[in-house]
Amino acid sequence: MTPGSAAARSYLVRQQTLFGDQLLLGEAADSAIEPDTKVDGSQVEELAAFNREIRECQECPLGATRTKFVFGVGNPAADLVLVGEAPGRQEDLQGEPFVGQAGKLLDKMLAAIGLSRQQVYILNVLKCRPPENRDPRPAEVDQCQPYLNRQLSIIRPRLIVALGRVAARTLLKIDESLKNMRGRIFNYEGIELMVTYHPAALLRNSGFKPNAWVDFQAIRDRYRELAGLPPVEGPRAAGN
Ligand code: SF4
Repeated sequence: MTPGSAAARSYLVRQQTLFGDQLLLGEAADSAIEPDTKVDGSQVEELAAFNREIRECQECPLGATRTKFVFGVGNPAADLVLVGEAPGRQEDLQGEPFVGQAGKLLDKMLAAIGLSRQQVYILNVLKCRPPENRDPRPAEVDQCQPYLNRQLSIIRPRLIVALGRVAARTLLKIDESLKNMRGRIFNYEGIELMVTYHPAALLRNSGFKPNAWVDFQAIRDRYRELAGLPPVEGPRAAGN
Protein backbone atom coordinates (compact mmCIF):
# COMPACT_ATOMS: atom_id res chain seq x y z
CA MET A 1 0.00 0.00 0.00
CA THR A 2 1.43 3.38 -0.97
CA PRO A 3 1.55 6.19 1.58
CA GLY A 4 -1.17 7.94 -0.39
CA SER A 5 -3.51 4.97 -0.41
CA ALA A 6 -2.84 4.35 3.29
CA ALA A 7 -3.82 7.94 3.99
CA ALA A 8 -6.90 7.51 1.83
CA ARG A 9 -7.92 4.38 3.67
CA SER A 10 -7.40 6.09 7.02
CA TYR A 11 -9.51 9.01 5.83
CA LEU A 12 -12.38 6.83 4.69
CA VAL A 13 -12.37 4.74 7.87
CA ARG A 14 -12.59 7.99 9.78
CA GLN A 15 -15.58 9.12 7.71
CA GLN A 16 -17.38 5.84 8.23
CA THR A 17 -16.76 5.97 11.95
CA LEU A 18 -18.15 9.47 12.04
CA PHE A 19 -20.94 9.40 9.57
CA GLY A 20 -22.00 5.79 9.10
CA ASP A 21 -22.00 3.44 6.16
CA GLN A 22 -23.85 5.50 3.59
CA LEU A 23 -20.72 7.00 2.14
CA LEU A 24 -20.10 6.58 -1.52
CA LEU A 25 -16.38 6.14 -1.68
CA GLY A 26 -14.39 8.13 -4.19
CA GLU A 27 -10.98 9.70 -4.42
CA ALA A 28 -9.05 10.30 -1.27
CA ALA A 29 -9.37 13.73 0.22
CA ASP A 30 -5.94 14.25 1.75
CA SER A 31 -5.86 17.57 -0.04
CA ALA A 32 -8.75 18.74 2.13
CA ILE A 33 -6.31 19.39 4.95
CA GLU A 34 -4.69 22.69 4.16
CA PRO A 35 -6.74 25.87 4.37
CA ASP A 36 -5.76 28.43 6.93
CA THR A 37 -6.60 32.03 7.42
CA LYS A 38 -4.45 34.98 8.34
CA VAL A 39 -4.88 36.40 11.79
CA ASP A 40 -5.53 40.11 11.72
CA GLY A 41 -3.98 41.75 14.77
CA SER A 42 -6.71 44.35 15.03
CA GLN A 43 -9.39 41.66 15.09
CA VAL A 44 -7.52 39.80 17.84
CA GLU A 45 -7.38 42.91 19.98
CA GLU A 46 -10.92 44.03 19.18
CA LEU A 47 -12.36 40.65 20.08
CA ALA A 48 -10.29 40.45 23.26
CA ALA A 49 -11.44 43.95 24.25
CA PHE A 50 -15.04 43.00 23.62
CA ASN A 51 -14.60 39.88 25.75
CA ARG A 52 -13.29 42.04 28.62
CA GLU A 53 -16.19 44.40 28.15
CA ILE A 54 -18.96 41.82 28.48
CA ARG A 55 -17.55 38.94 30.51
CA GLU A 56 -19.10 40.11 33.78
CA CYS A 57 -22.52 40.47 32.15
CA GLN A 58 -25.56 40.09 34.38
CA GLU A 59 -28.14 41.33 31.90
CA CYS A 60 -30.26 38.18 32.13
CA PRO A 61 -30.86 35.68 34.96
CA LEU A 62 -28.32 33.21 33.54
CA GLY A 63 -25.53 35.48 34.72
CA ALA A 64 -26.33 34.56 38.32
CA THR A 65 -26.22 30.79 37.79
CA ARG A 66 -23.26 30.38 35.44
CA THR A 67 -19.89 29.07 36.60
CA LYS A 68 -17.94 30.60 33.72
CA PHE A 69 -18.78 33.01 30.96
CA VAL A 70 -18.22 31.34 27.56
CA PHE A 71 -17.19 33.92 25.00
CA GLY A 72 -15.93 31.79 22.10
CA VAL A 73 -12.75 30.25 20.79
CA GLY A 74 -10.69 30.05 17.63
CA ASN A 75 -9.20 32.29 14.99
CA PRO A 76 -10.48 35.89 15.35
CA ALA A 77 -10.04 36.35 11.59
CA ALA A 78 -11.57 33.03 10.60
CA ASP A 79 -13.33 32.61 7.29
CA LEU A 80 -15.70 30.09 8.86
CA VAL A 81 -17.66 30.64 12.07
CA LEU A 82 -19.79 27.97 13.71
CA VAL A 83 -22.62 29.10 15.97
CA GLY A 84 -24.13 26.78 18.57
CA GLU A 85 -26.91 27.25 21.07
CA ALA A 86 -25.58 27.66 24.61
CA PRO A 87 -22.89 26.30 26.92
CA GLY A 88 -23.50 22.89 28.49
CA ARG A 89 -22.11 21.53 31.74
CA GLN A 90 -18.52 21.06 30.61
CA GLU A 91 -18.48 24.36 28.77
CA ASP A 92 -19.80 26.13 31.86
CA LEU A 93 -17.04 24.56 33.96
CA GLN A 94 -14.23 25.21 31.49
CA GLY A 95 -15.31 28.53 29.95
CA GLU A 96 -14.91 27.25 26.39
CA PRO A 97 -17.60 26.29 23.87
CA PHE A 98 -17.99 22.72 22.60
CA VAL A 99 -15.60 20.92 24.93
CA GLY A 100 -17.93 18.09 26.04
CA GLN A 101 -18.97 15.06 24.02
CA ALA A 102 -20.72 17.21 21.42
CA GLY A 103 -17.55 19.28 21.12
CA LYS A 104 -15.42 16.22 20.55
CA LEU A 105 -17.76 15.18 17.76
CA LEU A 106 -17.63 18.68 16.28
CA ASP A 107 -13.82 18.52 16.28
CA LYS A 108 -13.99 15.23 14.37
CA MET A 109 -16.49 16.65 11.90
CA LEU A 110 -14.23 19.63 11.28
CA ALA A 111 -11.25 17.32 10.84
CA ALA A 112 -13.27 15.32 8.31
CA ILE A 113 -13.45 18.43 6.12
CA GLY A 114 -9.83 19.36 6.71
CA LEU A 115 -10.26 22.00 9.40
CA SER A 116 -9.37 22.39 13.06
CA ARG A 117 -10.94 24.48 15.80
CA GLN A 118 -7.84 26.69 15.66
CA GLN A 119 -8.66 27.65 12.08
CA VAL A 120 -12.35 28.44 12.57
CA TYR A 121 -14.16 30.39 15.27
CA ILE A 122 -16.72 28.64 17.50
CA LEU A 123 -19.25 30.41 19.67
CA ASN A 124 -22.80 30.16 20.99
CA VAL A 125 -25.91 32.30 20.89
CA LEU A 126 -25.90 32.41 24.71
CA LYS A 127 -22.72 33.00 26.66
CA CYS A 128 -24.01 31.47 29.90
CA ARG A 129 -25.41 28.01 30.60
CA PRO A 130 -29.16 27.60 31.02
CA PRO A 131 -29.73 25.49 34.18
CA GLU A 132 -29.99 21.76 33.46
CA ASN A 133 -29.33 22.52 29.79
CA ARG A 134 -32.91 23.64 29.24
CA ASP A 135 -33.74 25.42 26.01
CA PRO A 136 -32.81 29.13 25.92
CA ARG A 137 -35.78 31.39 26.64
CA PRO A 138 -36.69 34.03 24.06
CA ALA A 139 -35.93 36.85 26.50
CA GLU A 140 -32.45 35.42 27.14
CA VAL A 141 -31.77 35.14 23.42
CA ASP A 142 -32.98 38.69 22.84
CA GLN A 143 -30.74 39.96 25.62
CA CYS A 144 -27.64 38.08 24.50
CA GLN A 145 -27.90 38.23 20.73
CA PRO A 146 -26.32 41.69 20.37
CA TYR A 147 -23.11 40.14 21.71
CA LEU A 148 -23.19 37.47 19.02
CA ASN A 149 -23.90 40.08 16.35
CA ARG A 150 -20.95 42.15 17.54
CA GLN A 151 -18.63 39.14 17.54
CA LEU A 152 -19.62 38.31 13.98
CA SER A 153 -19.12 41.91 12.89
CA ILE A 154 -15.56 41.83 14.29
CA ILE A 155 -14.62 38.43 12.84
CA ARG A 156 -16.32 39.12 9.47
CA PRO A 157 -16.22 35.47 8.24
CA ARG A 158 -17.02 34.47 4.69
CA LEU A 159 -19.37 31.72 5.88
CA ILE A 160 -21.42 31.13 9.03
CA VAL A 161 -22.70 27.68 9.96
CA ALA A 162 -25.65 27.59 12.34
CA LEU A 163 -25.55 24.38 14.37
CA GLY A 164 -29.16 23.50 15.10
CA ARG A 165 -32.48 25.25 15.02
CA VAL A 166 -31.93 27.69 17.87
CA ALA A 167 -28.83 29.20 16.27
CA ALA A 168 -30.45 29.27 12.82
CA ARG A 169 -33.66 30.88 14.02
CA THR A 170 -31.78 33.42 16.13
CA LEU A 171 -29.62 34.56 13.24
CA LEU A 172 -32.19 34.34 10.46
CA LYS A 173 -35.34 35.35 12.35
CA ILE A 174 -37.35 32.72 10.51
CA ASP A 175 -39.50 29.99 11.98
CA GLU A 176 -38.72 26.96 9.86
CA SER A 177 -37.82 23.37 10.62
CA LEU A 178 -34.21 22.28 10.49
CA LYS A 179 -35.14 20.01 7.62
CA ASN A 180 -36.32 22.99 5.59
CA MET A 181 -33.26 25.06 6.39
CA ARG A 182 -30.63 22.40 5.58
CA GLY A 183 -29.17 22.47 2.09
CA ARG A 184 -29.83 26.16 1.51
CA ILE A 185 -27.60 29.23 1.56
CA PHE A 186 -29.02 32.12 3.55
CA ASN A 187 -27.77 35.65 4.02
CA TYR A 188 -26.91 37.11 7.41
CA GLU A 189 -25.85 40.76 7.21
CA GLY A 190 -24.15 40.13 3.87
CA ILE A 191 -22.48 36.91 5.02
CA GLU A 192 -23.51 33.53 3.64
CA LEU A 193 -25.06 31.21 6.21
CA MET A 194 -25.70 27.46 6.09
CA VAL A 195 -27.60 25.32 8.58
CA THR A 196 -26.93 21.82 9.86
CA TYR A 197 -27.54 19.67 12.90
CA HIS A 198 -26.23 20.50 16.35
CA PRO A 199 -23.63 17.83 17.23
CA ALA A 200 -25.64 16.97 20.36
CA ALA A 201 -28.52 15.94 18.08
CA LEU A 202 -26.15 13.59 16.26
CA LEU A 203 -25.16 12.05 19.58
CA ARG A 204 -28.81 11.52 20.46
CA ASN A 205 -29.69 10.11 17.05
CA SER A 206 -26.86 8.65 14.99
CA GLY A 207 -29.32 8.14 12.14
CA PHE A 208 -28.80 11.84 11.32
CA LYS A 209 -25.08 11.34 10.69
CA PRO A 210 -25.26 10.54 6.96
CA ASN A 211 -27.24 13.75 6.40
CA ALA A 212 -24.77 15.66 8.55
CA TRP A 213 -21.96 14.38 6.35
CA VAL A 214 -23.83 15.62 3.28
CA ASP A 215 -24.14 19.03 4.97
CA PHE A 216 -20.49 19.14 5.96
CA GLN A 217 -19.34 18.32 2.45
CA ALA A 218 -21.48 21.19 1.16
CA ILE A 219 -20.07 23.46 3.88
CA ARG A 220 -16.53 22.44 2.95
CA ASP A 221 -17.16 23.05 -0.74
CA ARG A 222 -18.78 26.46 -0.24
CA TYR A 223 -16.15 27.53 2.27
CA ARG A 224 -13.35 26.61 -0.12
CA GLU A 225 -15.08 28.38 -2.98
CA LEU A 226 -15.55 31.55 -0.94
CA ALA A 227 -11.95 31.39 0.31
CA GLY A 228 -10.62 30.95 -3.23
CA LEU A 229 -9.29 27.46 -2.51
CA PRO A 230 -9.35 24.65 -5.07
CA PRO A 231 -12.24 22.18 -4.80
CA VAL A 232 -11.68 18.85 -3.09
CA GLU A 233 -12.14 15.66 -5.04
CA GLY A 234 -13.48 13.52 -2.22
CA PRO A 235 -16.06 10.95 -1.31
CA ARG A 236 -19.68 11.83 -1.71
CA ALA A 237 -22.45 10.59 0.54
CA ALA A 238 -26.07 9.80 -0.04
CA GLY A 239 -28.50 11.77 2.07
CA ASN A 240 -31.81 13.56 2.05
S1 SF4 B 1 -26.60 34.79 28.81
FE1 SF4 B 1 -25.87 36.63 27.75
S2 SF4 B 1 -27.24 38.31 28.41
FE2 SF4 B 1 -27.47 36.58 29.88
S3 SF4 B 1 -26.02 37.06 31.53
FE3 SF4 B 1 -24.98 35.68 30.07
S4 SF4 B 1 -23.88 37.09 28.69
FE4 SF4 B 1 -25.42 38.31 29.77
